[in-house]
Amino acid sequence: MRKQIAAANWKMNLSYQQGEELLKEILDTDLGLKDNQEVLFAVPFPYLLMTKKMIGDRRGFSVAAQNCHHEKSGAYTGEVSAPMLASMQVNYCLVGHSERREYNNETNQTLALKVDQCIENSIIPVFCCGEPLSVREAGTQNEFVSTQLRESLFHLGPDIISTIVIAYEPIWAIGTGKTASTGQVQEMHAYLRAVIEDQYGKETAQEIPLLYGGSVKAGNATELFLNPDVDGGLVGGASLIAVDFTTIIRAMK
Ligand code: PEP
Repeated sequence: MRKQIAAANWKMNLSYQQGEELLKEILDTDLGLKDNQEVLFAVPFPYLLMTKKMIGDRRGFSVAAQNCHHEKSGAYTGEVSAPMLASMQVNYCLVGHSERREYNNETNQTLALKVDQCIENSIIPVFCCGEPLSVREAGTQNEFVSTQLRESLFHLGPDIISTIVIAYEPIWAIGTGKTASTGQVQEMHAYLRAVIEDQYGKETAQEIPLLYGGSVKAGNATELFLNPDVDGGLVGGASLIAVDFTTIIRAMK
C-alpha cells in the first residue's frame, strides 16, 4: 500500500522553545496513525536533533531537513551537506522548495545533484515541484512541472525513484491562503503519475507518494486528501498550530 504523509514545513519560524512546545503538543495527541501513514517534521537545522530526540521511538514520525547542499563537503560556509544529515540519522530532506528555487537560485540541474546526494546518503528526498501563477494563467503548467521532474529526477533508476516522495506545490497557492481547487490538484497529480508511468511503468508510478502543498488547512485537508492521487500534504503555515496540524494528520484517508 502506498505511503501517506503529512509533512510539516516550519520554514524559518519558531524559537527553539516554541518548537519544543509545539512538538510536545502534537506528539501527546492520539493520532491513530495507520501502518502506511507517516508524519514528517521539516524543521530548521538547529532543531533537528531536538526533534529526533522528542520523537524517540514513536512509530510513524520522522524528522526532515529543509535543504542540503549539492556537494558532499568543501569550502561552502554556512551550508549543510547530506552526509552531515545522514550522520545525525535524518531520514528525509526537502529538495527544491519553491522558496529555495526563488531566493537561492536553485535550478533543476542543481536539484538533480541534491537528489543524488540524498540518495547516496540514504536520505529520502521530498522533491518539490510546481508552477508560478504566470505559467498557470498561460495554461502550460503540465509542461512546466513535467520538465522539473524530467530534469531533476528522471536520471534515477526505477528502483531508486520508487523510494522518493514528490510534493506538488503550485507557487501561487503557497502561503497565500489561495488553495488550488480539488479538481486542479487531482488533475495535476494524475498527470504527474502518468508522466512517471510513461518513463518507468505503472508499478513504479503507483508506488510514489504524491503530496499536495499550498495553503493546506484544517478545513480543507479532508477534501484535498480524498483525491485518489493525493497521498497527503506538505504544510507550511498550518503546521505551526498544533490543533490545526493534528487535524490535517487525521485527515489522511
Ligand atoms: C509550504 O511551505 O510548502 C507550504 C505549502 O506553505 P503553506 O502551507 O503555508 O502554503
